[in-house]
Amino acid sequence: MLLSGVVPSHTTLLPTSSHSRAAPLRHRHDPVGRAITVPLLRRSAMTIQARDAAPVLDTEPQPLKLLDRRTKLKIAVIGFGNFGQFLARTFAAQGHEILAYSRTDYSDAARSLGAAFFDNQHDLCEQHPDVVLLSTSILSAEAVLRSLPIQRLRRSTLFVDVLSVKEFPRNLFLQLLPPDFDILCTHPMFGPESGKHGWAGLPFVYDKVRIGDSDDRVERCRAFLEIFEREGCRMVEMSCAEHDETAAEIQFLTHTIGRVLAKLDLKSTPINTKGYETLLTLVQNTCSDSYELYNGLFIYNKNSTELIEKLDGALDTMKKELFERLHGIFRKQLFEGSARRSIDAGK
Ligand code: NAP
Repeated sequence: MLLSGVVPSHTTLLPTSSHSRAAPLRHRHDPVGRAITVPLLRRSAMTIQARDAAPVLDTEPQPLKLLDRRTKLKIAVIGFGNFGQFLARTFAAQGHEILAYSRTDYSDAARSLGAAFFDNQHDLCEQHPDVVLLSTSILSAEAVLRSLPIQRLRRSTLFVDVLSVKEFPRNLFLQLLPPDFDILCTHPMFGPESGKHGWAGLPFVYDKVRIGDSDDRVERCRAFLEIFEREGCRMVEMSCAEHDETAAEIQFLTHTIGRVLAKLDLKSTPINTKGYETLLTLVQNTCSDSYELYNGLFIYNKNSTELIEKLDGALDTMKKELFERLHGIFRKQLFEGSARRSIDAGK
């Protein structure tokens, strides 16, 4: 299978001379829209080393190298809500073709991203996407996956999920998808709020649950992961089980504290300390995600139940420590105070 936009592996574009010698410069944009300056090479400076290669239309070496090494994927985003759109924006900016499906009509939002919106899953599957990306709420993932007419997809389609829990979608995919389909479970550990200024340095967790051995399947998976690498994400390969164990602490705990603090209705004051500002930001970051997301973190990560019990216990222990000290001080004052009064009275 040749993926759309893949340059055959035997095709190599090689600059035949160094362009470091005061080559004229030209301003243009890289594939994600950033302004860059590249040396302008004369057409003769590039040779094609493959007999069936397409003619060269652009001879600038750096962007060509980058673009030609990349696979343009056709990505179907299932669940085009808050996070689905957030991801699709970057996919589209990198030149991938985006197809979107959601129960809500997001055709305007899709159009603004240059994506095609489908209100019918059959129509979408008949487009034969290379990748089907599941970005629905955790709670609805099973129902949505079961409702997909997967028989209309190509047999080797790559299924990816971005759910914030990982063992649950892994088991779901393994249980519901035919063995021919590839499976990549991922968790971009950032969202529209924390990733609004770019994804550089932000963690991206992935587990290649089932990727076929053939070159095209390996290449397709690599091309998908490369989207995040190119944005500068910190790529972390980790099993789904290990993710859930770790994420319960860093994710469920963070969201729980944020939501508990939100119940206190904290207000900004003229004397905010840095610590208090951090709490206000935490409330804002966690409560801007849907309650359904938070609920999914609790229900579908078996480690969350134990953690919320531990948190409850820790608050109790802390309260006990504080009240015991307070009682100790009162008792001391009470007894020492009454002894002094008796002494004073006996004088
Ligand atoms: P969410 O509330 O977890 O999910 C909203 C999405 O689920 C929307 O696309 C919505 O479709 C769909 N959905 C909900 N109930 C549905 C149902 N009964 N049937 C069909 N579709 C349903 O919010 P989100 O922030 O967009 O997150 C999407 C996924 O990304 C979640 O699995 C979440 O864990 C994961 N994730 C989120 C973040 C983040 O920071 N937000 C970060 C990493 C991973 P409609 O809009 O069409 O109703």
